[in-house]
Amino acid sequence: SEARAIVEPRIATIPDFPEPGILFRDLTPVFADGPAFHALSESLTLPFAGRFDVLAGVEARGFLLAAAGSVLAGTGVLPVRKAGKLPRKVLTEEYALEYGTAALEVHEGELPPGTRVLIVDDVLATGGTVGAAARLVERAGWEVVGVSVAIELEGLGGRAALPDGLEVYSLLQY
Ligand code: 5GP
Repeated sequence: SEARAIVEPRIATIPDFPEPGILFRDLTPVFADGPAFHALSESLTLPFAGRFDVLAGVEARGFLLAAAGSVLAGTGVLPVRKAGKLPRKVLTEEYALEYGTAALEVHEGELPPGTRVLIVDDVLATGGTVGAAARLVERAGWEVVGVSVAIELEGLGGRAALPDGLEVYSLLQY
């Protein structure tokens, strides 16, 4: 696709970050380039056009893509935050990291019941992060219509770790 052709050359690949053995995909050169950022943000929403009310972005890189995509689509945006950042009553979902756990949160009642939510993040790796975001949205009484990511790391099995039948779109696969 056109978006793939403009985004792919701008992804930086860094060996041994943040730990030895990890091949880190860095999207900051994509964010820094106007046409590439526009193309990426748009590409994440197009497969779900007309089927979502809000984009949910996972802190922190997902915020950038969800904010841009929601402005292009004319929808709202839901920040899915790391634990302890939101000031009102929250729902919390823990997920496994390589060592230990982390948690994501949303405000209870932030969106009307049944709101259709498209979850957005930069990278789908093991699926732990996006899976926790999807559980949060469902627990809050909203509907997960799908997941959209810039990059899917296919060797890590993220897609298989997500609930059966959940529609997942990735612009690029490694
Ligand atoms: P997962 O929970 O699917 O294992 O990991 C996905 C989360 O970790 C995403 O929020 C993503 O930002 C981050 N992540 C994992 N690997 C990479 C990577 O190679 N590059 C970037 N930019 N983020 C990564």
